Amino acid sequence: MLHGDLLDLCRQAGVKEVHADTLRACIFRRGERDFLSMHGLPKLFTHWLKAHVCHPSVSVLHTQVDTDHTQKMLLRLPYGGEVESVLIPAAGRITQCISSQVGCAMACTFCLTATAGLQRNLHTSEMIAQLMQAKWLMGSYPRNVVLMGMGEPLHNYNAVARFVWIATDPAGIALSPRRITLSTSGLVPAIKRMQADNLPCNLAVSLNASNDTVRNDLMPVNHKYPLSVLMPVLRDFSAQTKRKRVLIEYVLIDGVNDTLKDAMALVDLLADLPCTVNLLPLNTHHGTSYRRSSDAAVQQFWQTLNSAGYVAVVRQSRGQNISAACGQLKAENIPPKD
Ligand code: SF4
Repeated sequence: MLHGDLLDLCRQAGVKEVHADTLRACIFRRGERDFLSMHGLPKLFTHWLKAHVCHPSVSVLHTQVDTDHTQKMLLRLPYGGEVESVLIPAAGRITQCISSQVGCAMACTFCLTATAGLQRNLHTSEMIAQLMQAKWLMGSYPRNVVLMGMGEPLHNYNAVARFVWIATDPAGIALSPRRITLSTSGLVPAIKRMQADNLPCNLAVSLNASNDTVRNDLMPVNHKYPLSVLMPVLRDFSAQTKRKRVLIEYVLIDGVNDTLKDAMALVDLLADLPCTVNLLPLNTHHGTSYRRSSDAAVQQFWQTLNSAGYVAVVRQSRGQNISAACGQLKAENIPPKD
């Protein structure tokens, strides 16, 4: 809930609007779960909240913790369905990967989540509930948030945008806009909308190919928004929003997009775009025949980008000993419906 929504609740309950600030502190700053035990609010108001408002909470169905301390949770949502959320520790900080849809409509051919298709969009409260679950587990909110879990965030724009505004509200959860990254498959109109709204978060684009032929095979969204349409929009986004860099994600797949020629074509494609490139060797899973690139191919690809002056980082997948691919924990614990 944004502050205006909390003011509305006060008006509906017939209490002074000043209680909106206390309610915001109880729910978002302190992460309190039970309306009835919230201090500083009139008793009548807490009972009214209990009767009329659904607290943003999820239940944990299953948890896997890897030896690297990556923790993957399968969460049941208050409005039905299950999603995954992952807590990734690194250098004393926690990054949380948040899901925005149950399933996904984008049908990327290397992705396990895609095999279920889109079941529904998450409500804003269900994304906030993932953050609150992390706070209840760890005692504080994660330092970094990436909208890179199940779903295409920009296919659920209104709810995701509200999530970003609530998560960055300085009087509430107070995440830094620099520490929230929204990842898209390349939905051009929604990227333009993000830019027009000046949404306070970073943009990551899952590119995965340096030409339309390969990208059409990997990511059907490319038929609608090919590279000749997408790349100028990214350049404009970067220039207009003054965000330092767009994050380019590139999943490396053996023999598909990982050759020297691919790397050199990517160098040309990214010309004049201030960006950082994350190279992600594919997480193999049972739903795909694609294979992870060899270490030599990964090294060659990285070297080519690096020599051309790009900041490129190879991200070894965290949680290698648990169900590391997005959607894998759900697939193992929730049997598909007939
Ligand atoms: S990679 Fe992302 S956008 Fe593509 S199908 Fe999977 S969840 Fe959806």
